[in-house]
Amino acid sequence: MTDPIMDEFRSFNNLPREWVKYRCRSCDHTDWIDEIIVDAFPPTEPGGFPAIVCPECGGDFLYDPSEPPRDSVEHPDCPS
Ligand SMILES: [Zn+2]
Repeated sequence: MTDPIMDEFRSFNNLPREWVKYRCRSCDHTDWIDEIIVDAFPPTEPGGFPAIVCPECGGDFLYDPSEPPRDSVEHPDCPS
């Protein structure tokens, strides 16, 4: 039994997306942020990147230009 909506969701999920490196200004936590999330926030920072909230400490979570963006289907830190 196949569900066409779930099939479409899965195929969308298999497309590589751009991930950008973010670093917290307060606690130095880093993470890769999906372009879909980046695009969902107003681009308040230089380079068109939004400032978002650090998931660890609630501080300023900002784009880290020292790491080039990556194209990946899954989170770049996930073993695939
Ligand atoms: Zn933090």
